[in-house]
Amino acid sequence: MFDMPVDYERLAAAGSMMGSGGMIVLDERTCMVDLARFFLVFTSEESCGKCAPCREGTKQMLRLLTQICDGRGKPGDLELLEHLAKSVKSASLCGLGGSAPNPVLTALRYFRPEFEAHIQHKRCPAGVCRNLITLQVDAKTCVGCTRCTEVCPVHAITGERKSPHQINVNLCTRCGACRQICPSDAISAQ
Ligand code: SF4
Ligand code: SF4
Ligand code: SF4
Repeated sequence: MFDMPVDYERLAAAGSMMGSGGMIVLDERTCMVDLARFFLVFTSEESCGKCAPCREGTKQMLRLLTQICDGRGKPGDLELLEHLAKSVKSASLCGLGGSAPNPVLTALRYFRPEFEAHIQHKRCPAGVCRNLITLQVDAKTCVGCTRCTEVCPVHAITGERKSPHQINVNLCTRCGACRQICPSDAISAQ
C-alpha cells in the first residue's frame, strides 16, 4: 500500500480517513494493539456521554484492549471487539462515535496476527507491552559502556566496563529505561 494515492476515497476504502491531512509514520517497534488502545483512551475520554453506544462501547473496547495488552486476553476477545466496534460505529449519534472504532477495525484488518500473538502466545511482537516481554542484552553488540547500569532503577543490570552486560530478568520491571539510553541498540525485547 506504500504507493497508494492519497485522496478521500482511497483512504476511506483502505480503512483510514483524511482527517486534518496529517500522516504519521510508524515502524515495527510500534505495537498495533497498544496503538489501538491509545486511540480508544482518547475517544472514550472525549465522548460526551449523550448516547449509550459511544459512551459505553468505547469504554468496553478500551477495557478489552487493555486486557489484551496486559496479557489477560482470552479466545473470543477479537470477535467481541469487532462486534462492539461495528455496533458503536453504526449506532452512535455523531461523528466522534461513528469514527472512534476505526483505528481498532483497521488495526484488526491489517495486523490481526499481532493481536493473536498477544492473546494466544502472550507475546508482544513489537516488544512494547510490558507484561509480555523479556529484555535481554546482545553480547555481540554491547560495548560495555555501563550507561544502562546507571539508569536501571532496580539494579538489574550487571557487567564490567568494556565487557558485555547482563539483565537479571527476575529483577527487571521492564521499564525500558536501559533500552532508551543504550548507544549501541544492544538491548532488545523478546
Ligand atoms: S457519539 Fe457523539 S453524541 Fe454520542 S456520546 Fe459520543 S460524542 Fe456524544
Ligand atoms: S528495563 Fe528497566 S528495570 Fe529492566 S533492566 Fe532495563 S532499566 Fe532495569
Ligand atoms: S548501555 Fe548498551 S552498550 Fe552500554 S553497557 Fe548497557 S547494553 Fe551495553
